[in-house]
Amino acid sequence: MKKRNPILFRASRLPKDIPTVDFHIHTTFTDGKSSIEEYIISAIKKGLSAIAFTEHVRKSSGWFGTFSREVKNIRKAYPQLKIYYGIEAKALDYQGALDATTEMINESEVVIGAVHRYPGLENLSELEQISPEKAVQMEFEASMGLIENAPIDILAHPGGIYEKYYGEFPVGYFREIVKAAKQYNVAIEINSKYCNNIKEWLEICISEDIFISLGSDAHSDPETGTIVNLLRGIL
Ligand SMILES: [Zn+2]
Ligand SMILES: [Zn+2]
Repeated sequence: MKKRNPILFRASRLPKDIPTVDFHIHTTFTDGKSSIEEYIISAIKKGLSAIAFTEHVRKSSGWFGTFSREVKNIRKAYPQLKIYYGIEAKALDYQGALDATTEMINESEVVIGAVHRYPGLENLSELEQISPEKAVQMEFEASMGLIENAPIDILAHPGGIYEKYYGEFPVGYFREIVKAAKQYNVAIEINSKYCNNIKEWLEICISEDIFISLGSDAHSDPETGTIVNLLRGIL
């Protein structure tokens, strides 16, 4: 079992106390449109207390050291905001292999695992050839592989690919993912970009009292903290 990452919190803290955090942000190091510093300034303006830069990596991402050094340098100038850095790495198979090196994982302050494609399918366009029943099973199994075997703190946007291509991820599968997350000490991300069924999912997270993380999957600085506003609106 992994050591609990101190930035995560229990779902039972909601709905009374919504943490003003955003732990899913992409910068110009990958496909984000804003720089590290632009996000920091935006987060401070919005009154956030903590953020995490969680870059998309692959095993071949040679820039990771530069990225982590840059966050460490810049954050010294902004002591009013807690600033973390880490990775969002995708599942390579159904057994929890991550597309990240051990060095990246060890150096990261937060490690997010994500299903970004279904292992075995070369690209997302092949999704058209599989049934929703098959797709939901693939997404579920890839998610369970991450929870059970990968050195992750957080599972990103559960059911995210399915939601994008097929519609609402079935709640029964979500419930199974939550139970596994509780057993394996992994946090489930509540993400404002994948929120079809967010109310019911929050209720499940709260009733199981699992660890959760909040993320906006921000790709530009105006999106920082979107998840906090969304939760304030619905809780
Ligand atoms: Zn993602
Ligand atoms: Zn992301």
